[in-house]
Amino acid sequence: MVRRWMIVFAVLLFAFIAVVINDAVKPYEMVQAADVRIHKETIVIDAGHGGSDPGKVAIDGSLEKDINLKIAGKLRRELMERGYDVIMTREADRLTQETGSKQADMRERVRMVNHSDAQLLVSIHQNSFTDAGVCGPQVFYHEASKEAKALAEVMQEQLNETLNIAKPRVCKADHSYYLLKNTTITAVIVECGFLSNETEAGKLNDDAYQKQLAACLADAIEKYEQESTSQRECGQDGNIVDENKSGRDL
Ligand SMILES: [Zn+2]
Repeated sequence: MVRRWMIVFAVLLFAFIAVVINDAVKPYEMVQAADVRIHKETIVIDAGHGGSDPGKVAIDGSLEKDINLKIAGKLRRELMERGYDVIMTREADRLTQETGSKQADMRERVRMVNHSDAQLLVSIHQNSFTDAGVCGPQVFYHEASKEAKALAEVMQEQLNETLNIAKPRVCKADHSYYLLKNTTITAVIVECGFLSNETEAGKLNDDAYQKQLAACLADAIEKYEQESTSQRECGQDGNIVDENKSGRDL
């Protein structure tokens, strides 16, 4: 009789331990599932200008709006191949609100970003300056966003190193760009180079260079995500020392 009760007790004890172990394992499985989702994030790619708004006109007569769209398309392909979802603010040579004003177009771009489920916005532009010698890509972020600053720094470094930029620029904080000021997700504007510089204008119109640029931006997005994930896991606050002392030319 005593032996039978001992067997029943042992079975109950075993069942209890099995339930406890199962519950202890579940949160681990959930964390694993969440981590796998990191490459399933959604990125908005904004090709600046379009349609009646050409943007900057290059020294060779090519138009910023066309170069923006080509680089944006190549970036979309790069990101989709890496498992990201991508939303484009435009896919053709037009403004998002062609019948309205430039302001209406910008408002629509902001609306598209803020009503999306995206985590990052990358806006593609080309630069221009009165001094034709000035060249090199430069990334802008809103001064109030430490996440955007971290992304801009990774992106700037990636562009400078991979594209072998002779006079590397530093990324720059801004407080007035409409898109950066009014969007609610981590956002950067990438000025890919200067259309006022003959050599750089030639490169920016070159298909292979555009692909290299797009790959750089996608690499930077992946690096930023890996760094911000490991910072969250280590419980760091992600504060980054401001090293940007520049701000010339723009
Ligand atoms: Zn522009």
